[in-house]
Amino acid sequence: MVLRQTLLAASGSDRLRTIVAGTRLTRGVVDRFVAGEHAEDAVRVAGELAGRGLLTSVDHLGEETGHPAQAAEVTKGYLHLLRLLGEAGLTSSAEVSVKPTAVGLALGDEGEQLAADNISRICAAAAEAGTTVTVDMEGERHVPATLRLVASLRSEHPRLGCVLQSYLRRTEGDAAAMAAAPGSRVRLCKGAYAPDPATAYTARRDVDAAYVRSLRRLMDSEAYPMVATHDPRMIDIATTLARRFGRTYDDFEYQMLYGARPDEQRRLADLGARVRVYLPYGGDWYGYLVRRMAERPANAAFAARAVLRR
Ligand code: FAD
Repeated sequence: MVLRQTLLAASGSDRLRTIVAGTRLTRGVVDRFVAGEHAEDAVRVAGELAGRGLLTSVDHLGEETGHPAQAAEVTKGYLHLLRLLGEAGLTSSAEVSVKPTAVGLALGDEGEQLAADNISRICAAAAEAGTTVTVDMEGERHVPATLRLVASLRSEHPRLGCVLQSYLRRTEGDAAAMAAAPGSRVRLCKGAYAPDPATAYTARRDVDAAYVRSLRRLMDSEAYPMVATHDPRMIDIATTLARRFGRTYDDFEYQMLYGARPDEQRRLADLGARVRVYLPYGGDWYGYLVRRMAERPANAAFAARAVLRR
């Protein structure tokens, strides 16, 4: 718990970001969780995963963009990525994930509109390429604006996916609201940031119980649940709930992070399930990787071994 909180605090530190990037502890650690530096790397790995029957959601790493011009650059990066995915014939298996703060959400009063405009452009390009977009959910202070922008964009782009985090007490209500829209694509995860104990569950068993309650609402609806977890218990419960509510393997999907439980990804895909791998690429991997270490001490130990070997 203390390690998790320390690492989550470190994930937002610009000073540590600079130091860690400078140490070049990188390749062994980064390569395990990140496709590579460029869109071409992500497309290559997405192609390899597609060859093994796995779907992907490709994420351009980066968050808390500090300037509108940078948000425009990130948006352009997504348009380029979608073009490449289209040219590689991968848009039936690969979609994209976008962090709202990477495309401007945190940029003051204008940020919400800017992020909505940028995500709308990405959605239009994705639709043209024949695929979809999912909006990631970030730290708690961004949740209300993210939900607002998803709701407004869905009138034009109904297949826009949204992430909900079960550690937030509000999520069960959000899941119920999203479950009411037929076809609503909802990725349910536990949450990777450091939420406020006043508005979030902090005990693991409470987060898990809340996950199951929201999952049940989504499964028992016309929404399209995207079950984002590596937790064997949650995966079993999702499988049971899907059966109970008459869903086939085409009516929901499991999602896991690139580099996490690849054997389980394979096992589920071999059963005929839809399994989507969240596939990040880019140079700004610091915050993403530190959150992975906070989730799982084994990931932190893997990073520490990589540093000591140098
Ligand atoms: P935990 O509750 O961390 O662990 C439970 C058990 O699962 C562990 O005891 C272990 O048995 C097993 N386990 C967990 N991880 C691993 C692993 N790497 N290898 C082997 N076993 C493991 N969070 C957000 O806040 N916003 C997002 O937009 C977001 N998007 C996500 C997208 C995807 C596809 C996924 C998979 C996760 C995403 N997350 C996101 C992260 C998520 O919120 C969790 O922090 C993360 O998935 C860890 O929780 P868990 O449910 O996997 O398992």
